[in-house]
Amino acid sequence: MTHTQLTLPFSVRTESAFRQHLEERLNKPVSLVLTDNATTMLSFRKKDAALFIRLHRLFLNADLPVIDEIASFVRDRKGAMPRFREFLRLHRESLAAKPARKRSLRAKGRHHDLQDLYDRINSEYFGNSITAGITWGSRSPRSAVRKRTVGSYSERSKVIRINPVLDRKTVPRFYVGFIVYHEMLHAALGTPMQGKRRIVHSREFRERERLFQDYDRAMAWERGDRKTNSA
Ligand SMILES: [Zn+2]
Repeated sequence: MTHTQLTLPFSVRTESAFRQHLEERLNKPVSLVLTDNATTMLSFRKKDAALFIRLHRLFLNADLPVIDEIASFVRDRKGAMPRFREFLRLHRESLAAKPARKRSLRAKGRHHDLQDLYDRINSEYFGNSITAGITWGSRSPRSAVRKRTVGSYSERSKVIRINPVLDRKTVPRFYVGFIVYHEMLHAALGTPMQGKRRIVHSREFRERERLFQDYDRAMAWERGDRKTNSA
């Protein structure tokens, strides 16, 4: 079964063809944003002469009568939308299914179990409030450029990736834990804007980072490790 791979079938119709169809039906310029938001499948607002429509990307694959129904609904601001509902009913299963990325998470390494570290840290420092996924990153040569990044957090997919170079016996567990904690802090704090700049490591971030039990040890190990690497 491949129905959990949500992005796969939607190349059937391109986003711009979809938007164009809506524009023809509505006779207005349309700004279309396709979302992964399964709670609000459709929302729209009028601004000046244009229509701003946010729609779940599932509908890229819908038949023309469904799209026409969406267009009428947006135009009249009302309507029962039976086809829209039927389409949703038929595809609910693929929405409810876990996204493919969640399934492909690989947290158990050869030497370090990321999920175990994550769960302990989540309970100790975050009151179990973090819901992000965690996985070892890929070892493929394509990502070799990113070798120097030990960890990352994607706000879009809500997945923490830890560089597999850390999955070694010689890398202490407290250091891996510190990197996991660092990325979990990103998940907890987000990246606030200051004017036009994104503050990735805010003052609050740095303060909370220092609360980690093994902070000093981790920092010392990192410095030592870098020395040996460059030697
Ligand atoms: Zn960071």
